[in-house]
Amino acid sequence: MSSFSHRIQTRYYAPPSAVHGDRLVLPPEEAHHALRVLRAAAGQEIEVVDGEGGWYRVRLDEADRRTAAGTILERRREVGEPDYSLTVGLAMLKNPSRYETFLEKATELGVTAVLPLQTARTQKARLKTARAQNILVSAMKQCGRSRQVHLSDVVDFTDVIAANTAGLKVICHEAGPLEDNLSALLAREPSLPRHILLLVGPEGGFSDDEVAAAQRAGFQVASLGPRRLRAETAALTAVAAIMLSAATT
Ligand code: SAH
Repeated sequence: MSSFSHRIQTRYYAPPSAVHGDRLVLPPEEAHHALRVLRAAAGQEIEVVDGEGGWYRVRLDEADRRTAAGTILERRREVGEPDYSLTVGLAMLKNPSRYETFLEKATELGVTAVLPLQTARTQKARLKTARAQNILVSAMKQCGRSRQVHLSDVVDFTDVIAANTAGLKVICHEAGPLEDNLSALLAREPSLPRHILLLVGPEGGFSDDEVAAAQRAGFQVASLGPRRLRAETAALTAVAAIMLSAATT
């Protein structure tokens, strides 16, 4: 007989408005997934996250044709969330599917917010908002977070560098000196600041003027090594370096 009894829990998503006292009602798409795809039944316990840091263990007590609802047995906050906030300003890319890939992976790596940047060399492109939100919710559930990455509308590079008060501000630039790579820069910080802002340019890179303006606004220029990375690779590499440096402090 197999002693293997651990079952990986499927997480469900329900917005905060789905919680009414001790009762939680799954939204229609999640109910469909629970009832039709995973054949959840009354009496079964499920885990639900609300995308705003709420985590619930719920016992289903209504699992009929269309409704999946139950009683909240346990509540937690910030399950799966890092203890720093990391905002990534990644220039809008010519190919939105690369941006979508970035959103999924950024969720897994613990990013808090993404600002699609309009820069001097940014191509005209748009993200499909509903699609992007679906990707963010799926990735959150899949990787075990309870907060959804906040995706803003497109913002101007100049506004972002003017307005930000993060404790660590980094602009990734391929012409940065190699000894100032991001890892070296992080090692020089006495501890990882609680609020970090990271900027990554578009396919054509940041202009010299943009890099100079960012430096005047208190950004440190970081290299990510000797090769020219695609923008989404650069952003994910930088995010991973920050995540791992936080894990060791
Ligand atoms: N300007 C370059 C490539 C831009 S790559 C060119 O056209 O040849 C897109 C963005 O990824 C850059 O703006 C930078 O933010 C980041 N990036 C790519 N490779 C990098 C590296 N080796 N070091 C630091 N940043 C890098």
